[in-house]
Amino acid sequence: MINYTISYNHPHRHFVDFEFTSKTNGKSTMQFQLAAWRPGRYELADFSQNIQKWGAFDENNNPLSFKKITKDLWEVDTEHATKITVVYNFYANQIDAGSCYLDEHQLYLNPVHCMFYIVGRMEEEYILNLDIPENYEIASSMEKTGNTLKVKGYDLLAESPIICSDSLQHGSFEVDGITFHLWFQGECNPDWKKLNKDFTAFTKSQIDKFGGFPVEEYHYFFQVTPYRSYHGVEHTKNTVLLLGPGNEIMEKRYEDLLGVCSHELYHTWNIKAIRPVEMYPYDYTKENYFRTGFVAEGVTTYMGDMMLYNSGVFNWDEFIKTQNQNLERHLTNYGRFNLSVADSGFDNWLDGYKLGSPDRKTSIYPDAALCMLMADLEIIRNTDGEDSLHSVMKELYDEFALKGKGYSEDDFRNICVKFGGLKVAEIFENHIYGTQDYIPTLKTSLEVVGIELKEKKNPNLSAQYFGFVAVKENGKMVIKKVEPNSVTDKNGIAPEDEIIKLNGKKIEGKLSEMLKECKEKVTFTIKKKFSEKAIPLAIGNYYRLLEFVISEKATEEQIVLKKVWSNN
Ligand SMILES: [Zn+2]
Repeated sequence: MINYTISYNHPHRHFVDFEFTSKTNGKSTMQFQLAAWRPGRYELADFSQNIQKWGAFDENNNPLSFKKITKDLWEVDTEHATKITVVYNFYANQIDAGSCYLDEHQLYLNPVHCMFYIVGRMEEEYILNLDIPENYEIASSMEKTGNTLKVKGYDLLAESPIICSDSLQHGSFEVDGITFHLWFQGECNPDWKKLNKDFTAFTKSQIDKFGGFPVEEYHYFFQVTPYRSYHGVEHTKNTVLLLGPGNEIMEKRYEDLLGVCSHELYHTWNIKAIRPVEMYPYDYTKENYFRTGFVAEGVTTYMGDMMLYNSGVFNWDEFIKTQNQNLERHLTNYGRFNLSVADSGFDNWLDGYKLGSPDRKTSIYPDAALCMLMADLEIIRNTDGEDSLHSVMKELYDEFALKGKGYSEDDFRNICVKFGGLKVAEIFENHIYGTQDYIPTLKTSLEVVGIELKEKKNPNLSAQYFGFVAVKENGKMVIKKVEPNSVTDKNGIAPEDEIIKLNGKKIEGKLSEMLKECKEKVTFTIKKKFSEKAIPLAIGNYYRLLEFVISEKATEEQIVLKKVWSNN
């Protein structure tokens, strides 16, 4: 058994104090490991850089000697000790869906960042005593008695975030006897009636598809920010969502709230229960290389949105908007011709989730979601609507997750091909593992349900006119993307170049607004690392987009299969 006491004295400094106590079990040395990454984000994060002080003591409070073995592994000499107490602090000043944060209003911890396991003793029970202000409430999926939390084993501890504050708002709903909790931290006014109705609908649809839910109870933890934010992190029994601004999440940004929640709930099956064999079990000390990120995030991105449509929470326009967003992200990324989604997922461990070198790779989110859309439609075609991608996921759940096994990339491919035949095999070869243009295949797949792709001009004017995308960064207008062979590229302008002036005028406000007035030719003053130059660019049509539209000539059969597709 491991006892943890968590406290703090000066919340504005953002340091949380931890005291870790355990028996030595007669061992002459003990090793304490902090994670190097967290499940849900497949890149190294090296959380131990947030530790400022670290010390170990025996049962009489005498210091024990220790040394670091790796960047996040401590070894303590416990030769003459029966009990060990490790005392350390952790800098908690990062607010996102998978981080730790402390201030005068809340204590928010993701234990995978800041709590240790004893090497060789990962299965032990953890008891957490929280020394927090009296009026604070605790939101957690761990077993709770007063200010004490209990959880069995490090794996579950790592996936059990904690929010403590005096301003938590709590609601719950039930589906098939399972209680789903909604916790909101941060300024906002949850519309409980609306939330209960929509969450019940998409939750029920997902549970029906899989024929059961992997856990007995589930928690949504919303960290609501006063600024614009949007992302989530999945765990076995809960999810954390970062959303904002708080005054928009029930209205203007409600579709985003639903989108991210349906996505994270789907992960309860796909990645938490249905897990790649390479992560059975997790190795927290180093990279866990796997090539099926396109299953974990591609299927989940596609299905998360599909289940909102399937359950009637989204209408057609709202659903097809999500598919158009995936397509737009795909078409504005020339990395699609350089690295497949399978290889790009593997490489998250190399350069993470950021843009990285220009047009280097694709994304396991939108690009992989488009692959899954194509596979889904081809399975429907091949089986006359008897089966779909749901059948694949259900088989993975029944044959792997429920039998306690991980699946390999071949397992996933083989099940898809079993249902979808040759066309699906080609999607794997050409698009999931290859870098062939998706569009011809996508067009053919969409014919199954009578949907066409229509050309659309890019609404971002610098992208449309010149083939570049620029963003404001520290007060500077910096180019982030350039379409290869566009007028921008041909005139020697590249990502990370800075735009100083447009037709001799300083860039103030939005670039798109300034471009609205422009016709035929624009002169940009561009600052590079060692030079500055005025460069005239002729207006053209770049970063062209496509969008999904229902065909006016759809046949009876296509109309029937479109219904099967969304209601299957
Ligand atoms: Zn996800």
